[in-house]
Amino acid sequence: MHIAFIGLGNMGGPMALNLQKAGHDVRAFDLSKPACDKLAADGLKIAQDATAAVQGAEVVISMLPASQHVEGLFLGRDGQPGLLGAIAKGALVIDSSTIAAATSQKVAKAAEAAGIAFIDAPVSGGTGGAIAGTLTFMVGGSEANLERARPLLEKMGANIFHAGAVGAGQTAKICNNMLLGILMAGTSEAIALGVANGLDPKVLSEIMRRSSGGNWALEKYNPFPGVHENAPASKGYAGGFGTDLMLKDLGLAQENATAMRASTPLGGLARSIYAAHSLAGHGGEDFSSVIKMLQKKG
Ligand code: NAD
Repeated sequence: MHIAFIGLGNMGGPMALNLQKAGHDVRAFDLSKPACDKLAADGLKIAQDATAAVQGAEVVISMLPASQHVEGLFLGRDGQPGLLGAIAKGALVIDSSTIAAATSQKVAKAAEAAGIAFIDAPVSGGTGGAIAGTLTFMVGGSEANLERARPLLEKMGANIFHAGAVGAGQTAKICNNMLLGILMAGTSEAIALGVANGLDPKVLSEIMRRSSGGNWALEKYNPFPGVHENAPASKGYAGGFGTDLMLKDLGLAQENATAMRASTPLGGLARSIYAAHSLAGHGGEDFSSVIKMLQKKG
């Protein structure tokens, strides 16, 4: 199948490679030349631009940072035409970025008017899951469109959930990431307290992992350097899931909570914690670096 893949960052790059490994004809594009060069070196076919990538594509997958990037790409920006005008009628767009549900619905409506199918399919599982092809997909859209996408999603993920109509995947994703932001801050706080008392972070993490405090960060993504060899914490907090992306997701959750008149006190506090961490210059580091603001200095 001819697939266009737009957005080759920490997540999109390995996801596109998994589709190519499965035998699909992938034409990829990213605005960042270093990202394109890295993936070209891994054997991915890089198109000259997004319009060239979607020529003749049956499926278009996007993995971009935020709402404005997805809206700008598909609907146009600064007088530039949107990509929907270049995508073949009858094609399927799968947007895996984490964005506002309202933006997914807006793009889906325009796609439908152009005879193009659309689903939102944000993911969870981190860069490790993207590389291993074990992501969790949270899909919003019709059953029929999900079934069209399923064989491709199965090449990139291990769990595929149908959350509801277009936008429902995004709503599930911001609930999950609000919890993730809270649990990473809480896990960091607990490890920092133990270490300040002289405990070995590896031993403490293992105790909590096997106790009632066990969670995903303690299983796979420990914020303390050296506990998990492959976690961003052990690589200078490079790659992974950026603090600014977590801040965006916590902001989406708070906007939604305001609209729903929902009470999300810990989500609100977590947003403020990551905002302070970003302002202190850590926006580009993996979000688990939040432990730095909770650790004793010197
Ligand atoms: P990233 O910043 O590493 O990559 C995004 C890429 O999109 C960049 O390379 C950028 O150049 C490119 N881009 C932006 N606008 C573009 C455009 N118009 N055309 C082409 N390329 C464009 O981000 P990421 O970590 O890969 O995350 C992507 C999305 O997935 C985000 O919405 C994020 O919240 C979500 N997500 C990330 C993780 C993670 O662990 N990193 C996990 C789950 C979900």
